[in-house]
Amino acid sequence: MVRKLGSSYTLESRVGRGGMGEVWRGHDEAGNELAFKLLLPHFTSDPGVVARFMRERAILIRVQSPFVVAIHDLVAERGELAIVMEFVEGSDLRHELVRRRTLPPGEAVGLIVDILTGLATAHRLGIVHRDLKPENVLLDRRDGTSRPKVSDFGVAGLMASATRLTIPGGMLGTPLYMAPESVDGGVVGPAADIYAAGTMLYEMLCGVAPFAGREMLSILRAHADLVPGRPPGVPDEVWAVVAAMLAKNPADRPGTDRLRALLPALTGLPAAPAMVGPPASSRSAPHSSVTVA
Ligand code: ADP
Ligand code: MG
Repeated sequence: MVRKLGSSYTLESRVGRGGMGEVWRGHDEAGNELAFKLLLPHFTSDPGVVARFMRERAILIRVQSPFVVAIHDLVAERGELAIVMEFVEGSDLRHELVRRRTLPPGEAVGLIVDILTGLATAHRLGIVHRDLKPENVLLDRRDGTSRPKVSDFGVAGLMASATRLTIPGGMLGTPLYMAPESVDGGVVGPAADIYAAGTMLYEMLCGVAPFAGREMLSILRAHADLVPGRPPGVPDEVWAVVAAMLAKNPADRPGTDRLRALLPALTGLPAAPAMVGPPASSRSAPHSSVTVA
């Protein structure tokens, strides 16, 4: 079913449905292929939320990196809010993990280095993703490679504003990738995205996120209080960086350079065996806990 959006976009077919709405494939007047995320009415019925999103529009459009799904436009029309973005032909990191369970260290680290590079572009503009998870990493399969592209920038903020309204089912994203400072109501900055990237790297290396298999509240407490166990088969130098990315104190988490420096030594290393549950975690020392502002 073909339909129009605004004065210049044509939607051709629905390609997917997610927690926030439907994603369509379509094009602009010049025929450029685009993806359109049409947000569900309960995110868009609050004029404050819509106004906030439109305020962020200029800055979201400025986030330009080969490792971020480019946002071209935001359209607010007849109570609808649509994000117009680059169309990514491929899959996403969640699908990849379901299919392969674990990735070789070189490949996993390479993906996270690219993801961190994309995140840094947004961080320089003052934007924190806040909801980084494998579902929000699209894998661009054009050119025979598998380039990661971070999606849903700016949407987590919109979700957070909208969650205060009544959302059917009390929807809250998965807390598996949530930084301790987000759990404890501390200041959430770029380092929260580094933490989330660290949990994704952990999962790619061993097949499970650090605190997988627990109830929601237990996961939240674990981020604040527990040190993740070390999975077998992860090289020492890789583990050192993963552990640092998962530091409770945001200031202790490393930037991209430490991870990038590992890459040359990881070529050819095999993937570790996939675990069914994460290894036992331990209680974190009191001095390393996050200071709540
Ligand atoms: P939500 O974040 O609302 O849960 P998703 O972002 O996961 O929804 O999108 C739902 C579906 O649409 C997914 O299958 C995803 O692969 C697809 N999709 C999302 N963004 C794009 C895009 N830019 N290009 C191509 N497909 C996309
Ligand atoms: Mg998403």
